[in-house]
Amino acid sequence: MKKVYQEKKKGYFCRIILNNNNIMAQDKVRVRFAPSPTGPLHIGGVRTALYNYLFAKQHGGDLILRIEDTDSQRFVEGAEEYILESFKWLGIEFNEGVSFGGGCGPYRQSERKTIYKQYVDRLVDAGLAYIAFDTPDELERKRKEIANFQYDASTRMQMRNSLTLPGEEIKRLIDNGENYVVRIRIEPGEDIHVNDLIRGEVVINSSVIDDKVLFKSADQLPTYHLANIVDDHLMEITHVIRGEEWLPSAPLHVILYHYLGWADTMPKFAHLPLLLKPEGNGKLSKRDGDRLGFPVFPLEWKDIKTGDTSSGYRESGYLPDAVINFLALLGWNAGNNQEIMSVEEMIALFDLANCSKSGAKFDYEKGKWFNHQYIIKKDNKELAVMAQPVLAKHNVQATPAYVEKVIGLVKERLTFINELWDQASFFFVAPTGYDEKVVKKRWKEDSASQLSELIDVLISREPFDVQGTEETVKSWIENKGYHLGNIMNATRLALVGESKGPHIFDIMEALGKEETINRLKRAIELIKK
Ligand code: GLU
Repeated sequence: MKKVYQEKKKGYFCRIILNNNNIMAQDKVRVRFAPSPTGPLHIGGVRTALYNYLFAKQHGGDLILRIEDTDSQRFVEGAEEYILESFKWLGIEFNEGVSFGGGCGPYRQSERKTIYKQYVDRLVDAGLAYIAFDTPDELERKRKEIANFQYDASTRMQMRNSLTLPGEEIKRLIDNGENYVVRIRIEPGEDIHVNDLIRGEVVINSSVIDDKVLFKSADQLPTYHLANIVDDHLMEITHVIRGEEWLPSAPLHVILYHYLGWADTMPKFAHLPLLLKPEGNGKLSKRDGDRLGFPVFPLEWKDIKTGDTSSGYRESGYLPDAVINFLALLGWNAGNNQEIMSVEEMIALFDLANCSKSGAKFDYEKGKWFNHQYIIKKDNKELAVMAQPVLAKHNVQATPAYVEKVIGLVKERLTFINELWDQASFFFVAPTGYDEKVVKKRWKEDSASQLSELIDVLISREPFDVQGTEETVKSWIENKGYHLGNIMNATRLALVGESKGPHIFDIMEALGKEETINRLKRAIELIKK
């Protein structure tokens, strides 16, 4: 193969883009994330972008956002905006690309039509690609006629293309405006070597690759295969880090680099492991999320056509840093068993050599665990701001300082900030009733009289702080020879309405003397009856 390709590449062997000093900027790492705007960005795509980001940052390189929108059939309105908003939320920053600018634009493939056309023409002129006029019906007929039909060296001479039709006929068809495609001409029987940074050397025989369509006259647009290679070359991409699903295309891409004369500057490939269903059997899909109740998209997505809404990590109460940490470890490990990592640490530790070859199970419970850890780590002030919508939903107005204090007391119990109400509503509204089971178990015969005494003890307690109140109450209990547990349980029932919540003296301090006493009085009155 090499021989054929090298002879044919003569004349194309040049890098088109030179930097400002006219020196090829080969040394700088340049990677790209190249989503197709066909719907909301899948969480697997976010992971691909993240790995590119970590790799770029570690090497002081550039990360480019390229929108691969050449398939107009699959284009979805709003998908590009969604992608941009997702990365903004997650804090993944790009150096160049759609909405970021840069010297290699435009970065939206639909705006690069004229660029691709010259390379299509080059390949055709060099005999490395050819024009094919076969209609969908004709192709269908062939598929019926030949079992496992593939448009390749074994069949192409039976088809209507520029290899089989006379020159005048080709000209006539084109002049008549007949639709055609341009197909790559794959030489069969050659071993194509793909050196993958994660998988090692992958060898695929060219006979299994069909003469893929590179360009369609109908919309004057290239297909993914050509546009992807041309852009990676012109944008001086040094490493292509992408999802495993693209691995089967890699040999074709290697051939194209040779055909276009760019083999020497071909980027290095790294195909990331698949994200698997939580059970491990097969690729993670949106249906798994629906079935098991977790989001597979970073942000909520509303499908304009169907009206369906898919949940997002943001709207489900995830912290962006927790999502990043969780995703980073789906298919990569830091080599030191460390799990909680800041982005800076990830940048320092990231290594493609520590990416697994086999798929990574999407362990959703682990995702929740990460969120819990990040809530604990997060500043109470920031959490208090995040809690505002939760409180507003329950018409609660509290000072930021109070919310902050409450959060400090209950955050160890939260996986998501919107669980705050379940865990801490009693800090904001007094109980309106008392859990019957708890009353039965915890409200003793002498609870009412003991809590009345407790009220007297608390009235004179000043200041009403955790430590002082605890000391005063405990020494009163000791002097009286009362049962500590019984009094604490009854007090909790009075203040909270059930048997949950943090340390009882923390609750007292937060509520303040007046409210604590009011609640005790109310319980004595109501539970007695
Ligand atoms: N546009 C492709 C996608 O949607 C890009 C694949 C690649 O990174 O080469 O995943």
